[in-house]
Amino acid sequence: SKDEGRNCFHFFTEQMQQNAEYTAKMHTSLKLALESSVFELYFQPIICLDTHKIVRAEVLLRWQDEGQFIPTDEFIALAESSGLIVDIGHWVRQEAMSFLIELQNIAPDIGLSINVSMYEFWSHSLQDNLVNSIQHIAKELTCDVFPFEMVTIEITESLLMKQHTHLIDSLNTLREMGIKIAVDDFGTGYSSLSYLSHFPIDQIKIDKSFIQDSGISKKQQALVEAITTLSHALELHVIAEGVETKEELEFVKNAGIEAVQGYYFYRPMTKSSLLELLSKR
Ligand code: C2E
Ligand code: CA
Ligand code: CA
Ligand code: CA
Repeated sequence: SKDEGRNCFHFFTEQMQQNAEYTAKMHTSLKLALESSVFELYFQPIICLDTHKIVRAEVLLRWQDEGQFIPTDEFIALAESSGLIVDIGHWVRQEAMSFLIELQNIAPDIGLSINVSMYEFWSHSLQDNLVNSIQHIAKELTCDVFPFEMVTIEITESLLMKQHTHLIDSLNTLREMGIKIAVDDFGTGYSSLSYLSHFPIDQIKIDKSFIQDSGISKKQQALVEAITTLSHALELHVIAEGVETKEELEFVKNAGIEAVQGYYFYRPMTKSSLLELLSKR
């Protein structure tokens, strides 16, 4: 079954990851995957709870090897340890930004939210790398003005803890271009809340672990409500991840959260499924 396949992969990686030979092989097959374009982008709609309309879609990378999906967090982790994440990240942005232009003709109100690995910030200064990568792609794609205001970059909380020298400058540059910054997996790190006011950010995405326990724990509820109130006071948008049930949706609504993403509404889907969905609106 699918689960067994997953477990096999877990077992395989855990046993072999320490093995340099395996790492080299994995690096080669990741590189091959990138070159032979077997990677694919999936899209998961994000819904505004006020209007019940799709406002954005998160771009999620998929790798199918011999008909089986390899869990994204696992191959991303391997790509990070081998440094290939920089090339993969660039490829994701090329595909996503190119698709955004296509999307502009059909659904000009829909934005794309793109994940950026914190290793992309560590391996080079963001100023020289991520900003350049995005500007370079935009230049290649358009002779006109690129719709940067429809792009959100998702970074993780742990990145903010690293206090990268150029991080604030770089996030500011991205925002000056019109790009929005979201803090992903919010609440899973160990940093203080103070960075919410220190860093140039626009949105926080409350991690699904908070949302999915909401029915059980009153304390969890209080925490999510407090995070939402605080974020709103700082003029940050709040998105809830991993909403799977009606109860979780109710909880999210009651907490005052304005946007949701989760299986309750949509699972990640192919480009053509998203286009079909948007054209039927
Ligand atoms: P993430 O950024 O936190 O993405 C959300 C994950 O939650 C996705 O897993 C999505 O499929 C899943 N999800 C969405 N709704 C629900 C729900 O209702 N219930 C549950 N249980 N899960 C839900 P996915 O696609 O497997 O991606 C895993 C992680 O891999 C992502 O977590 C992100 O950290 C990373 N990732 C994915 N695409 C990229 C990429 O292009 N670049 C980088 N650097 N990382 C990526
Ligand atoms: Ca994300
Ligand atoms: Ca997340
Ligand atoms: Ca995550």
